[in-house]
Amino acid sequence: MGERLAETLAKLDLHTVGDLLRHYPRRHEDRARFARIADVRDGETVTLAGKVTSVENRPTKTRLVLTKVSLDDGSGVATLVWFNQWRMKQVFEKLHGKRVVAYGKVARGFASVEVSQPEWEALDDGGDGGLSVGRIVPIYAATEGIGQGRLRSIIHGAVERFAGDVPEALPPALRGERGLPEIGDALRDIHFPPDLASLENARRRLVFEELLTMQLLLAGRKASAREARGLAFADTDGPVAELAGALPFALTNAQRRVIGEVAADMGAPHVMNRLLQGDVGSGKTAVAMAAMLIAARNGYQAALMAPTEILAEQHLRGVRGTLEDLGIRVDLLTGSRPAREKAAVRARVQSGETGVVVGTHALIQEGVAFARLGLAVVDEQHRFGVLQRAALGDKGARPDMLVMTATPIPRTLTLTVYGDLDVSVLDELPPGRKPVRTHWKRGKEKAQVYEGVRKLLAEGRQAYVVCPLVEESEKLQARAATELAAHLAQHVFPEFEVGLLHGQLGADAKEDVMRRFRDGTLHVLVATTVIEVGVDVPNAAVMVIEDADRFGLAQLHQLRGRVGRGAHASFCVLLADPKTDEGAERMRVLTETNDGFRIAEEDLRLRGPGEFYGTRQSGLPALRIADVLRDVEILKEARQAAFALLAKDPKLARPEHGALRSAIQAKRQDVLLAAAA
Ligand code: ADP
Ligand code: MG
Repeated sequence: MGERLAETLAKLDLHTVGDLLRHYPRRHEDRARFARIADVRDGETVTLAGKVTSVENRPTKTRLVLTKVSLDDGSGVATLVWFNQWRMKQVFEKLHGKRVVAYGKVARGFASVEVSQPEWEALDDGGDGGLSVGRIVPIYAATEGIGQGRLRSIIHGAVERFAGDVPEALPPALRGERGLPEIGDALRDIHFPPDLASLENARRRLVFEELLTMQLLLAGRKASAREARGLAFADTDGPVAELAGALPFALTNAQRRVIGEVAADMGAPHVMNRLLQGDVGSGKTAVAMAAMLIAARNGYQAALMAPTEILAEQHLRGVRGTLEDLGIRVDLLTGSRPAREKAAVRARVQSGETGVVVGTHALIQEGVAFARLGLAVVDEQHRFGVLQRAALGDKGARPDMLVMTATPIPRTLTLTVYGDLDVSVLDELPPGRKPVRTHWKRGKEKAQVYEGVRKLLAEGRQAYVVCPLVEESEKLQARAATELAAHLAQHVFPEFEVGLLHGQLGADAKEDVMRRFRDGTLHVLVATTVIEVGVDVPNAAVMVIEDADRFGLAQLHQLRGRVGRGAHASFCVLLADPKTDEGAERMRVLTETNDGFRIAEEDLRLRGPGEFYGTRQSGLPALRIADVLRDVEILKEARQAAFALLAKDPKLARPEHGALRSAIQAKRQDVLLAAAA
């Protein structure tokens, strides 16, 4: 094809014939029969086809422009409407008298049928020999410069000429048992199905193949981690008992159990690769300290990496308070410490004088070398990519690895995203915690909300106010926080001390603010999401989140976890006037439950699983066709099949598994590219 076209297709990440074949349709439209305009009902989503009979632009009171296009199908006339899309008028004037297909939701009035912002397509432009009408038609992700018709005929050409040449990755036995079509047929039918049953079969096969290769990839990772010979720490019971004796509290049963799981891994000769999930406040740090003490008492060093400086400094205080009493040197390494201090810490880490080093990304930079790194702990792992995790591990010779997260992971995802890790769960909060009571208030009730906060402040409690999320830039976010803090200090809480914390402050300023909030000199802390992870001030009993609907569900749950960490009754107030049903649903879920796992499941349901795959964090290839929520059953089947396959042929070395092996190889490549991006 010509260069121009190739460039346009490259925007869709389509570079090869293979890419075209796997550019699966977003959806299909049954254009064997169109809905009759005379018969459509209000609220229905339909595909209409008709001739363009008139086009006009109309200004609205709010100085927008409405483009109205009349579409006549013989049974009636529908009006297609666009807001402020200046080019539409010109585009449709050229189509006057031509046939157009439109897809969208109908608003039926007394004498009108309107479809707002429809997806549409001119039928006579492609000259694609009947690919676009009279059949089930694929609708693709498209881009500027290429319409559905053109894309359809290009993909049709690729399918006709090459689908039959694609190597079959699924061994015949696997396909046979499940009645799955061959790859050539599946590719043809996913794009241009003769009927809905063939479409469903094609989809089932392609989903199964995608999930099977993903599960094989994960199973392979897990197996090689298990085989990898690592450190076997001789004494685990001693250090665990020693730590339990040194802590100012008794471990919960859950902590005891999880520390046991970690100790068993560390005592065994394979490399530990364990994910520790525990809701905010469940006491993950104590588990990390047990693991670090095991390393130290067996003559090794441990590193704890946190995503922010505030969090690293807080960990330092906690860890130092306990481990230094036991005679272990604990150091801090973050980017913003003075160069002299950093150099000194690096030297102590290299000589082995430092037993435990706590830090940020600074830990994985060049120039940091450990004498004997035996354990790497990564806190709040969702903030780090797989490669960063690996980079910390590479600072030692196969050290054990413990990754901790307070973002509970829905079970469906544990089978996939984290399928290569062993999982421990802290499912119990320390005793005496009072659950945070969460209220949702409208913006107009703000004055009453702040009155309530004032009462708590008068009783000696402290408060967080989280500033509305500004996504555009860190600078604007910082400015918004500064303005909010000034407003609260002058007009709302003049009799109290108001502090300010945001990402643009220098490390010393941040540390200073946190110290004054911790020691009670500051009563109100206005903050951005920098306080989302880990900040721990037990006397802070209330949090107000302004414009809470701008935040995601998991993020709100994290933020809320900053209160309820002491003995006082605690509150979280969400100030929000959500503009969408989905936003209102998020507010409702938070007021109803404190259960992080339920929130994670809801989050997944509301946002869809797309965000978890093909991202840097996931370490997994993007899913092109499978939807792990919808395809849970196929996922389970694929997982079983993957394990059965590897039990028989662990290296997939048999000839009939060659194509499958290459498919996995290709996925592995995708992951590395995504992680490096
Ligand atoms: P997270 O899991 O959110 O990282 P932390 O480890 O920071 O939780 O613990 C939260 C708070 O609970 C800390 O102040 C910690 O000292 C305290 N804590 C942890 N375990 C216990 C326990 N078993 N009993 C009482 N308090 C505990
Ligand atoms: Mg923590």
